[in-house]
Amino acid sequence: MDWLCFGFLFTTGNCRFNFKNPFSNCWQSDHFVDFIFRNEQRINALNFANDDGTTNKVIIMTRTYRNITKTKQCERFYNLSPRICIYDLDGTVINSSHRATHDENGNIDLSDWKAKSTKDLIFQDSLMPLYCQLQEDYKNGDMIIICTARELSKWDYEFIHFYNIYYDRIISRPKGNDTSDSILKKSQLRYLFNLPQYRNILKVFYDDNPSNLSAIGSLGATVVDARRYA
Ligand SMILES: [Mg+2]
Repeated sequence: MDWLCFGFLFTTGNCRFNFKNPFSNCWQSDHFVDFIFRNEQRINALNFANDDGTTNKVIIMTRTYRNITKTKQCERFYNLSPRICIYDLDGTVINSSHRATHDENGNIDLSDWKAKSTKDLIFQDSLMPLYCQLQEDYKNGDMIIICTARELSKWDYEFIHFYNIYYDRIISRPKGNDTSDSILKKSQLRYLFNLPQYRNILKVFYDDNPSNLSAIGSLGATVVDARRYA
Protein backbone atom coordinates (compact mmCIF):
# COMPACT_ATOMS: atom_id res chain seq x y z
CA MET A 1 0.00 0.00 0.00
CA ASP A 2 2.89 2.35 0.77
CA TRP A 3 4.29 1.76 -2.67
CA LEU A 4 0.95 2.55 -4.27
CA CYS A 5 0.76 5.82 -2.33
CA PHE A 6 4.28 6.66 -3.40
CA GLY A 7 3.45 5.98 -7.03
CA PHE A 8 0.32 8.11 -6.79
CA LEU A 9 2.08 11.03 -5.09
CA PHE A 10 4.95 10.97 -7.52
CA THR A 11 2.86 10.85 -10.64
CA THR A 12 0.36 13.52 -9.49
CA GLY A 13 3.25 15.81 -8.62
CA ASN A 14 4.49 15.67 -12.21
CA CYS A 15 3.24 18.57 -14.40
CA ARG A 16 3.06 16.27 -17.45
CA PHE A 17 0.74 13.88 -15.64
CA ASN A 18 -0.63 11.13 -17.86
CA PHE A 19 -4.24 10.62 -16.76
CA LYS A 20 -4.73 7.61 -19.03
CA ASN A 21 -1.94 5.74 -17.38
CA PRO A 22 -1.24 7.29 -13.97
CA PHE A 23 1.74 5.06 -13.20
CA SER A 24 3.48 5.40 -16.58
CA ASN A 25 5.89 8.16 -15.56
CA CYS A 26 6.71 6.40 -12.37
CA TRP A 27 7.95 3.31 -14.17
CA GLN A 28 9.32 4.97 -17.31
CA SER A 29 11.52 7.38 -15.39
CA ASP A 30 12.78 4.57 -13.22
CA HIS A 31 12.04 6.66 -10.15
CA PHE A 32 10.73 3.62 -8.40
CA VAL A 33 14.21 2.12 -8.42
CA ASP A 34 15.67 5.51 -7.60
CA PHE A 35 13.38 5.75 -4.58
CA ILE A 36 14.60 2.41 -3.29
CA PHE A 37 18.18 3.35 -4.03
CA ARG A 38 17.95 6.65 -2.19
CA ASN A 39 16.27 4.96 0.73
CA GLU A 40 19.17 2.55 0.94
CA GLN A 41 21.58 5.44 0.69
CA ARG A 42 19.81 7.09 3.61
CA ILE A 43 20.21 3.95 5.70
CA ASN A 44 23.88 3.78 4.78
CA ALA A 45 24.28 7.45 5.52
CA LEU A 46 22.85 6.87 8.98
CA ASN A 47 25.11 3.91 9.60
CA PHE A 48 28.31 5.28 8.15
CA ALA A 49 28.03 9.06 8.46
CA ASN A 50 31.29 10.70 9.53
CA ASP A 51 32.98 7.46 8.64
CA ASP A 52 36.50 8.55 9.46
CA GLY A 53 36.80 5.70 11.91
CA THR A 54 38.03 7.83 14.78
CA THR A 55 35.17 8.71 17.06
CA ASN A 56 32.03 6.69 16.60
CA LYS A 57 32.24 3.23 18.11
CA VAL A 58 29.00 2.08 16.49
CA ILE A 59 30.39 2.93 13.08
CA ILE A 60 33.61 1.08 13.75
CA MET A 61 31.76 -2.09 14.74
CA THR A 62 29.44 -1.75 11.78
CA ARG A 63 32.34 -1.61 9.37
CA THR A 64 33.88 -4.76 10.85
CA TYR A 65 30.50 -6.44 10.78
CA ARG A 66 30.00 -5.37 7.18
CA ASN A 67 33.34 -6.92 6.20
CA ILE A 68 32.40 -10.19 7.88
CA THR A 69 29.08 -10.44 6.07
CA LYS A 70 30.93 -10.50 2.75
CA THR A 71 32.31 -13.95 3.46
CA LYS A 72 29.43 -16.14 4.52
CA GLN A 73 30.55 -19.73 3.90
CA CYS A 74 27.93 -21.42 6.09
CA GLU A 75 25.02 -20.54 8.39
CA ARG A 76 26.41 -17.96 10.72
CA PHE A 77 25.32 -15.88 13.71
CA TYR A 78 25.19 -12.18 12.91
CA ASN A 79 27.43 -11.15 15.74
CA LEU A 80 27.43 -7.38 16.11
CA SER A 81 30.37 -7.45 18.51
CA PRO A 82 32.73 -9.88 16.81
CA ARG A 83 36.15 -10.84 18.07
CA ILE A 84 39.03 -11.28 15.67
CA CYS A 85 40.40 -14.83 15.79
CA ILE A 86 43.67 -15.37 13.99
CA TYR A 87 44.62 -18.97 13.23
CA ASP A 88 47.89 -20.41 12.03
CA LEU A 89 47.54 -23.49 9.81
CA ASP A 90 50.44 -25.91 10.27
CA GLY A 91 50.62 -27.40 13.74
CA THR A 92 47.49 -25.48 14.78
CA VAL A 93 44.57 -26.38 12.51
CA ILE A 94 46.28 -28.77 10.10
CA ASN A 95 48.67 -31.57 10.92
CA SER A 96 51.19 -31.46 8.08
CA SER A 97 54.12 -32.77 10.10
CA HIS A 98 54.69 -35.64 7.65
CA ARG A 99 55.97 -33.16 5.02
CA ALA A 100 57.43 -30.35 7.13
CA THR A 101 60.99 -29.82 8.21
CA HIS A 102 61.79 -27.04 10.66
CA ASP A 103 64.95 -25.45 11.93
CA GLU A 104 65.81 -25.26 15.66
CA ASN A 105 63.71 -22.07 16.04
CA GLY A 106 60.62 -23.73 14.64
CA ASN A 107 60.82 -21.90 11.31
CA ILE A 108 59.93 -23.89 8.26
CA ASP A 109 62.53 -25.06 5.71
CA LEU A 110 60.96 -23.22 2.79
CA SER A 111 62.68 -24.91 -0.15
CA ASP A 112 61.98 -28.40 1.22
CA TRP A 113 58.41 -27.36 2.01
CA LYS A 114 57.77 -26.13 -1.54
CA ALA A 115 59.17 -29.35 -2.99
CA LYS A 116 56.69 -31.33 -0.89
CA SER A 117 53.66 -29.14 -1.66
CA THR A 118 52.18 -31.53 -4.19
CA LYS A 119 48.51 -32.41 -4.31
CA ASP A 120 49.14 -35.98 -3.11
CA LEU A 121 51.13 -34.89 -0.07
CA ILE A 122 48.88 -31.96 0.82
CA PHE A 123 45.83 -34.24 0.88
CA GLN A 124 47.61 -36.57 3.29
CA ASP A 125 47.42 -33.77 5.88
CA SER A 126 44.86 -34.15 8.64
CA LEU A 127 42.86 -31.80 10.85
CA MET A 128 43.72 -30.98 14.44
CA PRO A 129 41.43 -30.28 17.45
CA LEU A 130 41.60 -26.48 17.06
CA TYR A 131 39.83 -26.91 13.73
CA CYS A 132 36.61 -27.34 15.75
CA GLN A 133 37.35 -24.11 17.62
CA LEU A 134 37.83 -22.30 14.31
CA GLN A 135 34.50 -23.54 13.00
CA GLU A 136 32.80 -22.64 16.27
CA ASP A 137 34.23 -19.11 16.18
CA TYR A 138 33.24 -18.66 12.56
CA LYS A 139 29.67 -19.78 13.21
CA ASN A 140 29.56 -17.47 16.22
CA GLY A 141 30.13 -14.57 13.81
CA ASP A 142 33.68 -13.78 14.88
CA MET A 143 36.08 -12.61 12.21
CA ILE A 144 38.38 -15.47 11.23
CA ILE A 145 41.76 -14.65 9.78
CA ILE A 146 44.01 -17.48 8.67
CA CYS A 147 47.59 -16.31 8.99
CA THR A 148 50.06 -18.81 7.64
CA ALA A 149 53.75 -18.66 6.80
CA ARG A 150 53.03 -20.98 3.88
CA GLU A 151 53.23 -19.73 0.33
CA LEU A 152 49.78 -20.89 -0.67
CA SER A 153 49.28 -22.87 -3.86
CA LYS A 154 46.13 -23.96 -5.66
CA TRP A 155 46.16 -27.28 -3.76
CA ASP A 156 46.46 -25.54 -0.40
CA TYR A 157 43.31 -23.56 -1.18
CA GLU A 158 41.65 -26.72 -2.42
CA PHE A 159 42.41 -28.46 0.90
CA ILE A 160 41.17 -25.47 2.91
CA HIS A 161 37.88 -25.35 1.04
CA PHE A 162 37.44 -29.14 0.83
CA TYR A 163 37.63 -29.44 4.62
CA ASN A 164 35.50 -26.34 5.34
CA ILE A 165 38.22 -24.42 7.09
CA TYR A 166 36.11 -21.27 7.14
CA TYR A 167 37.68 -17.84 7.01
CA ASP A 168 37.02 -14.18 6.36
CA ARG A 169 40.53 -13.51 5.22
CA ILE A 170 43.68 -15.46 4.45
CA ILE A 171 47.07 -13.90 4.98
CA SER A 172 49.95 -15.94 3.60
CA ARG A 173 53.59 -15.58 2.66
CA PRO A 174 54.06 -13.46 -0.49
CA LYS A 175 55.74 -15.30 -3.36
CA GLY A 176 59.52 -15.28 -3.13
CA ASN A 177 59.55 -13.85 0.40
CA ASP A 178 61.84 -15.67 2.86
CA THR A 179 61.41 -13.50 5.98
CA SER A 180 61.31 -15.48 9.22
CA ASP A 181 57.79 -16.46 10.31
CA SER A 182 57.48 -14.20 13.35
CA ILE A 183 58.71 -11.04 11.61
CA LEU A 184 56.51 -11.74 8.61
CA LYS A 185 53.37 -12.39 10.65
CA LYS A 186 53.98 -9.39 12.89
CA SER A 187 54.23 -7.07 9.90
CA GLN A 188 51.24 -8.65 8.16
CA LEU A 189 48.99 -8.43 11.24
CA ARG A 190 50.07 -5.03 12.50
CA TYR A 191 47.20 -3.30 10.69
CA LEU A 192 44.70 -5.01 13.01
CA PHE A 193 46.28 -3.25 15.97
CA ASN A 194 46.61 0.15 14.29
CA LEU A 195 43.56 0.73 12.11
CA PRO A 196 40.71 2.38 14.04
CA GLN A 197 38.07 -0.07 12.85
CA TYR A 198 39.97 -3.01 14.40
CA ARG A 199 42.18 -1.74 17.20
CA ASN A 200 39.58 -1.81 19.99
CA ILE A 201 38.39 -5.32 19.18
CA LEU A 202 39.64 -8.32 21.14
CA LYS A 203 42.11 -10.34 19.08
CA VAL A 204 42.91 -13.98 19.82
CA PHE A 205 45.94 -15.48 18.13
CA TYR A 206 46.35 -19.28 17.82
CA ASP A 207 49.79 -20.56 16.83
CA ASP A 208 52.19 -23.36 17.71
CA ASN A 209 55.39 -21.36 17.21
CA PRO A 210 56.68 -19.64 20.41
CA SER A 211 58.36 -16.84 18.40
CA ASN A 212 55.09 -16.08 16.62
CA LEU A 213 53.19 -16.12 19.91
CA SER A 214 55.53 -13.62 21.53
CA ALA A 215 55.68 -11.41 18.40
CA ILE A 216 51.90 -11.09 18.07
CA GLY A 217 51.46 -11.02 21.86
CA SER A 218 53.72 -7.95 21.92
CA LEU A 219 51.28 -6.21 19.58
CA GLY A 220 48.52 -6.72 22.14
CA ALA A 221 46.77 -9.95 21.15
CA THR A 222 45.61 -12.66 23.51
CA VAL A 223 47.75 -15.62 22.48
CA VAL A 224 46.88 -19.30 22.67
CA ASP A 225 49.63 -21.90 22.39
CA ALA A 226 48.22 -24.46 19.97
CA ARG A 227 50.64 -27.15 21.22
CA ARG A 228 48.43 -27.48 24.31
CA TYR A 229 45.62 -28.77 22.11
CA ALA A 230 47.60 -30.95 19.70
MG1 LIG B 1 52.56 -23.37 12.74
